[in-house]
Amino acid sequence: MRNFLFLILLFFVSQWLLKKLRRANERAQQGEAQAGGAAAGGANGAHRARNGSGNGAAGSTPQLADPLIRCAQCGVHTPRSESIVAAGERFCCADHARHYASRPTGRDAR
Ligand SMILES: [Zn+2]
Repeated sequence: MRNFLFLILLFFVSQWLLKKLRRANERAQQGEAQAGGAAAGGANGAHRARNGSGNGAAGSTPQLADPLIRCAQCGVHTPRSESIVAAGERFCCADHARHYASRPTGRDAR
């Protein structure tokens, strides 16, 4: 009976050791991959590039893809996402869109 318990214990210990070895191998492989990337571009540069691209995708990319647009009424430049489109023109606010549409030279003249 003692031998049987000992075998079970040995089984669990060996599995635990195998897990540890696998994790160690995975870490080693990841370390090699990172080392390879570092060799290609420099450790700090690669890390900064990864962080920068991540932050850019999360925060600054919409702003980069958000050109300033001139309000057809007052000429104020407004980010495209905040501008209002009316009658084929872009405006900084809904008031200016209404003003522009209600102008005598606007579409009402036709
Ligand atoms: Zn305006």
